[in-house]
Amino acid sequence: MDDNYMKSRAKRYHFLSTLLRDEIPLELIAAMQREKFLESFKESVKGCGFLDIINGAEVITRCLKSNDTQSLFNYLRYDYADMFLNAGPNPVFPYESVHITGEPVVMQDPVFELREFFRKAGVHKSPNFKDLEEHIAVEMEFLRYLLEKGNRDLYRDFFKNKYCKWVSSFCDQLAASTKTDFYQGLAHFIRGAMMCESLRLEGFSRGEETVEELMLAVDSLNLDPAYATLAEGSEEPLPDKQVPTHCYTCGALCGMTAKLKDGILVGTSGLNGDPKGGGRLCPKGGSAAKHLYSAYRLKAPLIKENGRFRKASWDEALDKVANGIKSIEEGKLGYFRGNDFINWIHEALFAHFGCPKTTHRPMCDNSNRMANEHNLCDKRPWINYEDSDYILHFGMNEFASSYGQRKTAQLKAAIKRGAKLVVFDPRRSETAAAATEWIPIKPATDGAVAMAMCYVIIKNNLYDRDFVENWTHGFEEFKKRVLGDEDGIVRSPEWASKISGVPAETIERIAIEFAKSKNKGTASWTGLAQVPNGMYSTAAIQALNGLCGTFDAPGGPSLPFKRKLKSPWGDGQEKPPEKPAPKLDTFGIWSGWAPALVLSDVKAGKLKGLIIYFGDPVLSWGNQQATTKAIELMEFKAAIEAYMCNSALLCDVILPDSTWLEQSQVKPDWLYEAFIGYFAEVVKPMYDTKPMWKITVELAKRLGLGHYFPWEDIEDAFRNQLQGTPWSFGELKEKGFIITDEAAYYKYKRWESINPPDGYGSSGKSKTGKYNFINPVAQEKGLDPLPDYKEPAKDLMPDSEYPFVFGNFRLYEHEHSSTFNNYQLMKMAGTNTLWINMLDASELGINNGEKV
Ligand code: SF4
Repeated sequence: MDDNYMKSRAKRYHFLSTLLRDEIPLELIAAMQREKFLESFKESVKGCGFLDIINGAEVITRCLKSNDTQSLFNYLRYDYADMFLNAGPNPVFPYESVHITGEPVVMQDPVFELREFFRKAGVHKSPNFKDLEEHIAVEMEFLRYLLEKGNRDLYRDFFKNKYCKWVSSFCDQLAASTKTDFYQGLAHFIRGAMMCESLRLEGFSRGEETVEELMLAVDSLNLDPAYATLAEGSEEPLPDKQVPTHCYTCGALCGMTAKLKDGILVGTSGLNGDPKGGGRLCPKGGSAAKHLYSAYRLKAPLIKENGRFRKASWDEALDKVANGIKSIEEGKLGYFRGNDFINWIHEALFAHFGCPKTTHRPMCDNSNRMANEHNLCDKRPWINYEDSDYILHFGMNEFASSYGQRKTAQLKAAIKRGAKLVVFDPRRSETAAAATEWIPIKPATDGAVAMAMCYVIIKNNLYDRDFVENWTHGFEEFKKRVLGDEDGIVRSPEWASKISGVPAETIERIAIEFAKSKNKGTASWTGLAQVPNGMYSTAAIQALNGLCGTFDAPGGPSLPFKRKLKSPWGDGQEKPPEKPAPKLDTFGIWSGWAPALVLSDVKAGKLKGLIIYFGDPVLSWGNQQATTKAIELMEFKAAIEAYMCNSALLCDVILPDSTWLEQSQVKPDWLYEAFIGYFAEVVKPMYDTKPMWKITVELAKRLGLGHYFPWEDIEDAFRNQLQGTPWSFGELKEKGFIITDEAAYYKYKRWESINPPDGYGSSGKSKTGKYNFINPVAQEKGLDPLPDYKEPAKDLMPDSEYPFVFGNFRLYEHEHSSTFNNYQLMKMAGTNTLWINMLDASELGINNGEKV
């Protein structure tokens, strides 16, 4: 390798890395279209003997000649956003890890090797380059650096043992994904150049004279000689670290220990002693690093132009969102937040504009909550299995969708020590399979079975008289309903059997067993909540607890009591005033916005814009066509997301959010014990993403509200939340959680109310301070307030045209669609399995394992 050789190769890497490190700048396209470049470029490949180089150069030259500069710039930047920023369906991953491992995950083992090479050469990735150090442009620039510094041996080593190992695969992907001739030609040129260089390093010399011409071509471009992706100076590896935090993959929020090697998240495990996880994680939490490092992430702000996305600067994108917010009449900008990470900050901003807000709630367990949050102090009362003797489950699969891994472990332990678990479920779920007794039931008929069990308990005087008399409200009315005194329909086991398909004697037996056992409790979840009669069925199941006085008793549903923290707005800081949000279409008892009716709201002019944060209305609001149409009709829509989704595709602007592993929050929580949990910023925000709190602050500044959002460092707000409490932020950060109140049975006796005292929060409130058989809010709204079985509307019942009832369930490996970018989980469960009764399947000629 003589000096000229090294100089020429360095120029080639300089040229190629400039084309790949970002969008190709307009000025560079203009320079490449000049005769000086085109002539030398053409000459440089003549007689080089490598077809890929010749063909690649020819395609690039043709493309440069046949397009005007601006049009070509636009085509390329749209293609760049689609391929490299994950705005399109066929992404290209310019990262070594992806091509070496064959998995769409970045920051894997190849990065540690890469860092070793960097250290040997005395460089590191420049912090000004927002993309990853394993990006192809960085590796190309590193090769250029080694050649320019005359480091022949390291150059050979890196080229042969790192670069050559994956670049061909990258080129294949680029050629297959691009919509433009330019990138097609570039893919061929890069691969050809790599092959040519491999042979030259082995002594092949034909066509070496063409190198001079390439140098002339590159020189004509006047490329900036400074290194754009590398900085001089070697960086020592960071010490291994374990960060206490919490998992935010599902609502359980288990404590988690994040393990870092040289600053890279290499694994996660449970956080010892944490009340939610109890030191355990499920596969979703265990694969959190694959969520963080998924190659499918959004990496930079995107703006839609001519129906396609292009990269934008943060300033441009934030200005556009702020102007979009200002352009929509007050109260007509919808705000959908699919998660509640640090929600106090973004809710405050959108509440200031009187934005109608919705969350994932209407798609989740709304009817469950409606049944519980007015009757109790809790929307989802969780059984404490620690001392359980008898457990009844309806519409829930605790092993697959548990509210915390500690609870799952407790249930397993309870079964092991002989507690009886009875699961009513149309499907033999993981929990049903492990239960003492699985009772198949017709979908959406659980309410009838629960009412009949209440009937048996009341009829046989098996209820807890003391609890019913002193701690419940509306028992007499409920009793009349059960005995059929109102309408002549006795809610007997025989009546329920006809509806549910469960034998009457089974209903009676289970009811008696349940009432007579010592430590008992019953629970239900979304299996009941997501059907039209869910509120009434859930209330009927809860009435079993009410009759048997199991609330806060050993083995019963534990009453929540989490601490209320101070305001994040500290001394001298002011929270923005709120404006009331106008009412949108609603359903019966629930007073919130019903997103399923969004199209009628848009057509009626009640909604004209939408901000989507961490959610996909098109996928989750039920009627995909109507939701798509509604979003399309809106005047302005923006998404704040870590990954592209169906709804973000419809937006004018996308702001790339950091994942939950790159941002922090303080959250009071509860599972038997009351505690404060800390969610740590495990790694700094990757790419050009920003955490949601920062996005909110930046938007607020542009909307003239910056003074209400004064934090430069969000930890100042966390300190405010803990100021004047016995718990310090420093201690919380160090431990990951602080238990504020120990678990206790019969707390309500101490509180003298089912509701916790001042200073504590819960997820519901009983107006009577007792458990209500009569739902007071339903009563106020003129709806039937008592638990019962309600027959679903006729058009939702099976008929000859649609003979099946469709239900859904959650997979253990996934949290709805939010984990579909986690390759580890997709390998474990990469498709939705259809479950159907074997007899129905056989009648339809469907065999197990067949694709339908
Ligand atoms: S149950 Fe699994 S996904 Fe949910 S918080 Fe716990 S570890 Fe994370």
